[in-house]
Amino acid sequence: MAYEKIENKVRDTIKKYNLFSKKDYVLVACSGGKDSTTLAHILKKLGYNINAITINPSIKARESSSKNIENLRKFCKENEIRLYEYSFKEEFGHTLFGINKILKSKGIDMPYCTICGILKRYLLNKKSKELKADKVATGHVLDDEAESVFMNLLRGNIELLSRLGPISGVKKSKKFVPRVKPLYFCKEEEIISYSKKKKFPVAYERCPYAKSSYREIVRNELIDFQRKNKKTNENIIKWFLQILPDIKKEFEKQGEISFCEICEEPSKNKICNACSIITKIR
Ligand SMILES: [Zn+2]
Repeated sequence: MAYEKIENKVRDTIKKYNLFSKKDYVLVACSGGKDSTTLAHILKKLGYNINAITINPSIKARESSSKNIENLRKFCKENEIRLYEYSFKEEFGHTLFGINKILKSKGIDMPYCTICGILKRYLLNKKSKELKADKVATGHVLDDEAESVFMNLLRGNIELLSRLGPISGVKKSKKFVPRVKPLYFCKEEEIISYSKKKKFPVAYERCPYAKSSYREIVRNELIDFQRKNKKTNENIIKWFLQILPDIKKEFEKQGEISFCEICEEPSKNKICNACSIITKIR
């Protein structure tokens, strides 16, 4: 019964926001964690045409020993999902730490989390385009989205706010595979309970390198708020979805959305952050 509640929520979200149809080829961005694993399992169960894609930031020197990847391979095999694996080491010639070091030597001090997020999104788009995916589904849950909304609100970054929502991005572009979030209305605790009951081989810890990030600070604040009001994150999302169409419209009207000249991802500058990092490390 509890299973059905979450599965129905996912199915309803996909339909209500028109995330994809059964004709679409969807790649699920998997990390070996509870959220993306649960998402892949539910989409497969609901009969969608999916496979999995994973981007390894090559944190560990011996990539094959990474527990998350091993877990993910096992899960995909058991669920008859094909897994496409890519890594920073193979694609850029460096590990995440190596990239951070090179950037530092050029006077750019960028946190691991920032580099990891930017380059993962970049590879995800590049590879899913090569694999001819119609959509990329990510495991973001309601609490992740509330964090992103709150974080960009605190930073006053309306442009980034306008790119959030169940479908990421603003305008359609041939070079950009839309990213969608079928777990948009699922609470983290629901996913944890689903994943534990199903005994998925997954890690429940958060990335150890994320501890000092700004997102983590915002996350902890929201956990505090939620102790006082359990609906805090739900309320943030409810409010955000009401104002999102207006924010998007405003940006489109002003023609303020521009795209990277190299990869055509939405970008404030002529060359996006990912392409700018890649040129520096090559
Ligand atoms: Zn770019």
